[in-house]
Amino acid sequence: MYHQVVIIGAGPVGGRLATELASRGISTLMIEEHAEIGRPFQCAGLVNPPAMNMVNLHETILQDIDGAIIHSPSGIAVPVGQDGKTRTHVVCRKRFDQGVVAQAMSAGAHLWLLSKPIDATVTQNGVNLKIQREGETVDITCDLLVGADGAHSWTRRHFRLGRPKEMMIGFQADVSGLTGKSNWLEMYTGSEVAPGLFAWVIPSGNNTHRIGVWSRPQDLDGRSVEQCYDTLLSHPLWREKFADVKEIARYCGPVPCGVIQKPFKDRVMVIGDAAGMAKPTTGGGIGPGFRQVESIIEKLVKSIVSGRLSASDLATVCKPFKTFRKEQDRARALRDLLVSTPDDETLDSHFEMFNRPEVLDLINREGDIEHPVPLGMTLLRKVPAFRKLALKAGFKLLFA
Ligand SMILES: Cc1cc2nc3c(=O)[nH]c(=O)nc-3n(C[C@H](O)[C@H](O)[C@H](O)COP(=O)(O)OP(=O)(O)OC[C@H]3O[C@@H](n4cnc5c(N)ncnc54)[C@H](O)[C@@H]3O)c2cc1C
Repeated sequence: MYHQVVIIGAGPVGGRLATELASRGISTLMIEEHAEIGRPFQCAGLVNPPAMNMVNLHETILQDIDGAIIHSPSGIAVPVGQDGKTRTHVVCRKRFDQGVVAQAMSAGAHLWLLSKPIDATVTQNGVNLKIQREGETVDITCDLLVGADGAHSWTRRHFRLGRPKEMMIGFQADVSGLTGKSNWLEMYTGSEVAPGLFAWVIPSGNNTHRIGVWSRPQDLDGRSVEQCYDTLLSHPLWREKFADVKEIARYCGPVPCGVIQKPFKDRVMVIGDAAGMAKPTTGGGIGPGFRQVESIIEKLVKSIVSGRLSASDLATVCKPFKTFRKEQDRARALRDLLVSTPDDETLDSHFEMFNRPEVLDLINREGDIEHPVPLGMTLLRKVPAFRKLALKAGFKLLFA
């Protein structure tokens, strides 16, 4: 059996690539190890408007979000956003993933469920794959193999393509029993509840919420993210708010942030979480994965059609990834400076600054979660109390 492209993993990024390839006439097969698309899911389900507009799956939206209330370690609350102005959407991940993969199939791509690769070898003429499909071994050849197989990517490991710069750990529970504004999410910071990063409470429609925490392993100091979640729920500042919470489900997963140096080899490449595309500031990986597909698709199709799929051909195709890596490095440097490395006391003093009307105004005017670096730099330049950090930031960004 032969296909021009085989994509391992039918998640949102693999599905998106399959749609773009198949709609340009490239024969494409998606290989998915699970029995259904979108399960199990490990995601807060935030999809920003540009990513949503690419796939037009608005029917999967559970809740629009207009803003965020961000809490400092001692409880200083900074509201960012404006009622009536949607900043992001909360989706049903299962329906969203299924929608993306259905678009690929409508465009002509094929899907094998309950299937996974057990071996792959690259020859001069193509890639020979052994796929385990519902207990049987099937041989397939293709011109190009794409790993869109998530954070623990088999493709990335099999072809020794390296590791993403950071591998965060996320934990989340779906709950009922919380009250509050249905169109604002909340974020919690501090060494006790989310060392180095933040915890979140996201309304997900129908009186349900998603409560989660993510952190860098080096900041956890032997604790688990699950323990941080327990600490948030029983924290003296917040326990009253969480008193009636009833859990519906809980899950834990990795968030790879930092595009690997060479996400390709002869006739092989990786994208999405497999390549380390998630944002170091929010952990979001769907929008960045879609942008990654959009950035390469025209050149990739030309390479497939002309049979130019060597490592150096794919290096040319994947050139935009360098910009993504640079953006991630700069965002990470600012995140570390403003959020990840300060102790709780310093973080509180940052929040006091953020909470001033003129600073809030600046954040609301210039804040763009897609591009946090310009806002960070403006804050450092314009807010007098941050100026001492500006020089440090300059150096960090210079070497990021
Ligand atoms: C707790 C948590 C919260 C998050 N919240 C958000 C959020 O709100 N917004 C956001 O944008 N991102 C969020 N993310 C990140 C987001 O889930 C990922 O970035 C996104 O799913 C990446 O898509 P992908 O298609 O690259 O990989 P995945 O969604 O991981 O899809 C990979 C697919 O490949 C399949 N697969 C894996 N290995 C194999 C194999 N060997 N053979 C066959 N199939 C295989 C899997 O079953 C899966 O279907 C969150 C992550 C976590 C852990």
